[in-house]
Amino acid sequence: MNAIPLPPEVFGLCIDPDRPLIVVDVDEVLGLFIRGFEQFVGTHGLEMRIDRFALFQNIYRPGETTHLDVKDGRKLFDAFFECNPQLMEVAPGAPEALAALADSATIVILTNAPPHSRPARARWLIDNGLPYPLVIGAGPKGRPVAAMAGRTRLGTAFIDDLLPNLDSVEQEAPGVHRFQSVADYRLRPFAPSAPDRHQRFDHWPDLAVAIASALDLRV
Ligand SMILES: [Mg+2]
Repeated sequence: MNAIPLPPEVFGLCIDPDRPLIVVDVDEVLGLFIRGFEQFVGTHGLEMRIDRFALFQNIYRPGETTHLDVKDGRKLFDAFFECNPQLMEVAPGAPEALAALADSATIVILTNAPPHSRPARARWLIDNGLPYPLVIGAGPKGRPVAAMAGRTRLGTAFIDDLLPNLDSVEQEAPGVHRFQSVADYRLRPFAPSAPDRHQRFDHWPDLAVAIASALDLRV
């Protein structure tokens, strides 16, 4: 089986070997993705019903009980990423928390957004006070996180909303501190978790304290 190649940006990142590293996801961690996507599908006469931890299975035509065809949902997803990032609000407290942590740690954004979304996504990060290097990946995040973590002598923290990504990092880079965070309060009850293996903090002020403690930082 061929492994997915590492995102090329991983090799060009400036990672200080003498500072801890924080690798953080975007959708549902730094940004309220589902809420933004919900507004976007609304402009197409569709609605989202947040009754499970899913994406394409949550889009409906009003009055219908069967969700939109997954293929059509994916087209909307691609269009949202390419043209409408301004609809996504930043997660409360995230820019302030990362700005404080950035005083003593390297921050890298690792997102599995579609490649064509790079310009819009980079602009969204800047516009929302998140001026950190952006890596666009694909597939499980364990290998890219392991590659980045291997470039600092100090600790690394990884934050994501998705259990498979957290599990992947545990498998590929077991020394990395893992944190789960789910920004949208409606999704929180449905998000699969494993608190015995990955600490979970859904609010950035709490998350920042936990990251700082794990990496021995002052914030
Ligand atoms: Mg995410």
